[in-house]
Amino acid sequence: MNTQTPVKSVDSLTLQVHSAFNTVQGEGPNSGLPATFLRLIGCNLQCVNCDTTYTSPEPYDCEPSHVETLINGITDAPLYNHLVITGGEPFRQGLALAMAVKTLLLHDKTRTIDIETNGTYSPSHVLSLLTEHERKRLFIVCSPKTRVVNSEMREHCDAWKFVISAAHIVRGDERAFLGWPTQVLGGQAGSKFNAAGESYFADNLLLRVIDQAKAGKPVYVHPEEIGGLGSPIYCANMTAALNLVKRYPTFRLGVQLHKYYELA
Ligand code: SF4
Repeated sequence: MNTQTPVKSVDSLTLQVHSAFNTVQGEGPNSGLPATFLRLIGCNLQCVNCDTTYTSPEPYDCEPSHVETLINGITDAPLYNHLVITGGEPFRQGLALAMAVKTLLLHDKTRTIDIETNGTYSPSHVLSLLTEHERKRLFIVCSPKTRVVNSEMREHCDAWKFVISAAHIVRGDERAFLGWPTQVLGGQAGSKFNAAGESYFADNLLLRVIDQAKAGKPVYVHPEEIGGLGSPIYCANMTAALNLVKRYPTFRLGVQLHKYYELA
């Protein structure tokens, strides 16, 4: 149960950093790449099943122009060429995020960056600072946790990512469905879906995701790793994710690689 307090967006020139560490990107288009993670403080949502610690009594406050030095100092190891900026919710940090991304892409012309987002903010303030070449090295990976995604985010994100559960709790009832992620659908749960899960997502964001997948924007689905590899619940999640890509063949199946390898 996530008890971390949600926080609003900040309009600061200082980036609030939770931690930085070297690991391997476990999900999405750059899955498998060794990466330096920069985790930012705070999230505007409070998803019940969130497994990320994004609050800290001792945040690092950092001017964007010093972000490279800061990451180096925190990780105490060489930076990888691929950075992942995650949270919490990175786009919550407005201008400071935009300037940090610009600085990092400018400093190393071969560097690539993933920004992982819940989709509730526009990415425009970040994108407006980038040259065409810099834009090509930035991947915005949207993993929605709400039924409505910011319209500019919907348009500009580079990929969608969903962590799939086979079953969830809806108003006290446990119901199995095709595997759409609980938190995206949460607001509509209960009244809108039949046993096959058909009408459940008929009028929501996911239809648009399906359209975007058809148009070439990648959609990654990962079964939620829970209860350990081989556990019945994880096997059910794997089946749900597999069923989903069979049903929507433009979707791409993956696993939460970092959990297989028990990485940070
Ligand atoms: S949006 Fe992501 S980081 Fe924020 S509470 Fe939900 S799962 Fe956690």
